[in-house]
Amino acid sequence: MRGVSDVSGNVSGGLAGARVLVAGARVTGASAARVLAELGAEVTVTDSSPTQLAALAATPLHAAVRLVAGLATPLPGTDLVVTSPGLRPDAPLLAAAHRTGVPVIGDVTLARWVSGASSGRDQAGAEWLVVTGTNGKTTTVGMLESILCAAGMDAVACGNIGLPLLDAVRAGHRVLAVELSSFQLHYSGELNPRAAVVLNVAADHLDWHGCLAEYAAAKGRVYGEDTTVVANADDEWSMRLAAGRAAVEFTTSEPAAGQLGVLGEALVDRAFGDAAAGGGHTRLASVADVRPPGPHNVANALAAAALARCIGVTGPAVAQGLRTYTPAGHRGVSVGEHAGVRYINDSKATNPHAARASLLAWPRVVWVAGGLLKGVEVDSLILDTRDRLLGAVLLGADRATIAAALARHAPNLPVRVVDSGDDGAMMEVVTAAAELASPGDVVLLAPAAASMDMFTDYTHRGRAFAAAVAALGATR
Ligand code: ADP
Repeated sequence: MRGVSDVSGNVSGGLAGARVLVAGARVTGASAARVLAELGAEVTVTDSSPTQLAALAATPLHAAVRLVAGLATPLPGTDLVVTSPGLRPDAPLLAAAHRTGVPVIGDVTLARWVSGASSGRDQAGAEWLVVTGTNGKTTTVGMLESILCAAGMDAVACGNIGLPLLDAVRAGHRVLAVELSSFQLHYSGELNPRAAVVLNVAADHLDWHGCLAEYAAAKGRVYGEDTTVVANADDEWSMRLAAGRAAVEFTTSEPAAGQLGVLGEALVDRAFGDAAAGGGHTRLASVADVRPPGPHNVANALAAAALARCIGVTGPAVAQGLRTYTPAGHRGVSVGEHAGVRYINDSKATNPHAARASLLAWPRVVWVAGGLLKGVEVDSLILDTRDRLLGAVLLGADRATIAAALARHAPNLPVRVVDSGDDGAMMEVVTAAAELASPGDVVLLAPAAASMDMFTDYTHRGRAFAAAVAALGATR
């Protein structure tokens, strides 16, 4: 059997003829299978979901790869397993690979092999700018892509964000704005991108990683030997992971020398360029250029700006990129206004850390929350935001847990609990929220919880909220 280094030594040669098992047939797995087949590997794809395999079987890829449902152990003679990030290391298939000495890598390592990457540049000279963190990755990567394009660069957002990293590498873009999840980082070997940021770390996905320290450690793998480290001075774990490295920091407060931050109504840079070297600053953009609004998105914009500045992007390009950025759906976007009350859909706030940031963006809020809390507590979220809460409407499996925390920390707050879980539940929620709100207030869906108890996913939940808001408008 060949080891990882034998297979990776000369990528196209090494993978040609290699027997590779791709675990997981979703977007990332399908991309890996396609690229491996193109490189001449003998590819088998497995997935525990027959529906997922059937979807792959319906694509042209089925002719180039073998599909086997529910493999619990690699087929005899397998040289390499490429796993999807969703699979835990203790999944039976990966545990069996480990026992039998078959190397397991993720799509990020495969992308590095395929690009022949070293020191953050592939053979064609592409730069990897990598974003990870508990919350804000997609927004930051989107802002970064927009800034890089405003600077006239051939850049693309990829990774855990729609376009798989392998596809972006194969397409030959010059700069890659890469979003990586902690799962992907867990399976990636030495990455060594040109620049990288860990935006923040808060309790999430602990069922996968085991504990917060392991989860944070996975995020910290993003920094390589030659990487320009970008760190969030306002986040304890981000700073801990950067400790001992010469980091470019950002803060939503006034920046010190060596930091990016906020001065009055401007985003400014005191880390890069002649102005910083002389003790001054470069103006990058206005706070008003940052959308969706709120301190968390200012932090994301500063992180994106810092990564772009690492490769020489100018201040005006940062401003232009932020102005032309289109916020991703279900992330703090307005879905209507009725009777002077604005309705904001932040269905993607699927954990308390995100919901906290989301609530802190508005001074007077009727909060819509609930779903699957995944065992995480909401007490500190409520303590940090209760001064701006006007009322709360709770839904979903863990509604009683949130109601109990509100009773402990905000006992006078009007709270409505919606017990039904059927199609009409969101209409009940929005109607109750409208009754609690006055002109000038915001009704904010920032559930602090996952959606799968009542909805297919967070986009389904966000659409249900938007539809209920539209129906409310029709009835008033
Ligand atoms: P990710 O890709 O990491 O899930 P997103 O950009 O999709 O991040 O944002 C998810 C949610 O997290 C948003 O809807 C918002 O509620 C919250 N959020 C965004 N940026 C931050 C941040 N910097 N800190 C805390 N919460 C954030």
